[in-house]
Amino acid sequence: MPAAVHVIDHPLVQHKLTLLRRKSTSTSDFRRLLGELSALMAYEVTRDLPMHEIDIETPLAPMRSRVIDGKKTVFVVILRAGIGILDGMLSVVPGARVGHVGLYRDPDTLRAVEYYFKLPRGMSERDAIVVDPMLATGHSAVAALDRLKETRPRSIRFVCLVSCPEGIAHLHERHPDVAVYTAAIDAGLDDHGYIVPGLGDAGDRFFGTK
Ligand code: URA
Repeated sequence: MPAAVHVIDHPLVQHKLTLLRRKSTSTSDFRRLLGELSALMAYEVTRDLPMHEIDIETPLAPMRSRVIDGKKTVFVVILRAGIGILDGMLSVVPGARVGHVGLYRDPDTLRAVEYYFKLPRGMSERDAIVVDPMLATGHSAVAALDRLKETRPRSIRFVCLVSCPEGIAHLHERHPDVAVYTAAIDAGLDDHGYIVPGLGDAGDRFFGTK
C-alpha cells in the first residue's frame, strides 16, 4: 500500500491558497502568500520528525527537554518553482540544509530533464523533504526522487501546494514509500500538463516572468 497523502486543510492554509490561486493576485502578493503557506505547511510535514532530549536550565530549574536536530533535515528544492517554498520552510527550520535538483519539462514529451543536482554530504543520516509547489504529471517529482534515492536519505517526504490525482498516482506508482503533503488535490490536468483549476505556472507567477 502506498504511503499516505496528507491533505492540509487547516483554515489558514486554505484561505491563503484561495488568495494565491486568484489570477488577480499580484507578483508581490503571490510571493508573500507562498512564503506564508510554506511556513504553515512546514508544521505539518515536520510533525513526525525524530526528536531527542537535551539538558537545559530554565530560570527556575534544570530540566530535560525535546529538540529536533534541524541540521538533519534537508529541504530538497526542485528548481525553479521550489525556490518559492524554501524561505518559508527555512523560517520554521532555520538550521535545515538545502539541496537543489534542476529539472525542466520538455515541452513536447512533458518529461523531466535534469540539468543540476547538488545535495549535502551524509544524506544517509538526514531526513529529506522535497519541495515543489505543483505536483502535476509527476514526471519532475519522480525524476527528483529517483536521483535523491541514490543518496539513500534516512527518510523522504514530498510537499506541494497543489496536486492532482494523476500526479499522486504516478508518484506513488514509482515511489510508494514517499508520503505526500499537499494543500489541495485538484480535478486533473489540461492538455499542456497544467493542473486545473490550479493556479497557473507557479514559477512564472513567483518570479514575474510572464
Ligand atoms: N507547473 C506549474 O507551475 N503549474 C501547473 O499547473 C503544472 C506544473
